[in-house]
Amino acid sequence: MSDTILVVNCGSSSLKVALFDLNLNQLTSALAERLGKQDAFASVPGYSGDIPLAGEGGHREAFQAIVSTFRDLNLLTSPPVAIGHRVVHGGETFREAALINDDVRRAIEECAGLAPLHNPVNLTGIEATTELFPEAPQVAVFDTAFHQTLPRHAYLYAVPYRFYRDWGVRRYGFHGTSHNFMATEAARLLGKVPGETSIISAHLGNGCSITAIRDGRSVDTSMGLTPLEGLVMGTRSGDIDPGLFDFLKTKEISAEDLHRILNNESGLLGLSEKTNDMRTLSELAEQGHEPSLVAIEVFCFRLARYISAMMASLSELDALVFTGGIGENSAMVRIRTLSHLKLAGFAIEPSLNQQHGKQTNGRIDREDSRFKVMVIPTNEERVIASEALQTSGAIRQR
Ligand code: ADP
Repeated sequence: MSDTILVVNCGSSSLKVALFDLNLNQLTSALAERLGKQDAFASVPGYSGDIPLAGEGGHREAFQAIVSTFRDLNLLTSPPVAIGHRVVHGGETFREAALINDDVRRAIEECAGLAPLHNPVNLTGIEATTELFPEAPQVAVFDTAFHQTLPRHAYLYAVPYRFYRDWGVRRYGFHGTSHNFMATEAARLLGKVPGETSIISAHLGNGCSITAIRDGRSVDTSMGLTPLEGLVMGTRSGDIDPGLFDFLKTKEISAEDLHRILNNESGLLGLSEKTNDMRTLSELAEQGHEPSLVAIEVFCFRLARYISAMMASLSELDALVFTGGIGENSAMVRIRTLSHLKLAGFAIEPSLNQQHGKQTNGRIDREDSRFKVMVIPTNEERVIASEALQTSGAIRQR
């Protein structure tokens, strides 16, 4: 098989590598987890068992092992025509995807202070790919780029202005590729032009964020300087009162502890004291487990509050769109959330909600709903593949 696009998504301790054909059909997708730890592993569909990782079992070794398995399985018989990398932070430098060269690499490095767990591993992914495919064009697709159209009143925090001027402290927003895809896909399903379509896009996975998109451009979003702000997430708190920092000093919780607690031990997991997994929580709540029910209630209420907050940035709303593992699959979360928004005029048709809008081009709203409500599956890897193909110019050169 030839003519493929490779997508590389390096998380802080994980790696996803996906392969697409030029029509953007996904051919395969491999995963490596717990990288850098003793029990690191990688798995590729079609290869039985885990693939052994050489050396320290880091991102580089995992990438090499996965590519070599793709080759063994005849999935990659020649170098990819383009390679797309998910890069978490593009700061204020990148407003769109960029063809990777030395300047782009340097700029990604300069943004690392804003995403210390992610940008350095993203660069490792780029290096590892360059070693194996030195001739293939590589494109960086930034989580933050889509949100660079935020107006000043939405991106500034009310802290001393020098924090922004001297250190770049502002709202950047994340999940940009997914929200951008929602805007394009919603427009297509509604028979509209993306540049004339306004939506609220709720990406609800392990990480959750919501974005107001006005005429195809991001104008407000819930994640901020870091992906910790905003909605309740699997293990992240989302919004809290910054006064908590002072209060916890009296409880001898250090800044380091607090970072861990807010990122890894809060959200659905923290409230339920059981799990960060919405599917399990739903089952537990149904069986009468009160803390799981509480976690779901807080999750849905915060989301509803944010949906109304996003309306402050729009003058019309073509659709409210749900996506991500929870947004796509949990009829219960959608109905609970919108039950808080009756005053705003949102109403869901229960039967469409149960079938996830699959038979109605994503639509799940009731006839008398003031706004359309849609469920659209996201595929961040596919968007990255598409951007890699366009930005690399690989098609034009052929
Ligand atoms: P990530 O952000 O890691 O890509 P996903 O988008 O896969 O995460 O979303 C994971 C979340 O989706 C988990 O909380 C999981 O429980 C939830 N989820 C997946 N399927 C269902 C389902 N059928 N019902 C409810 N929640 C679901």
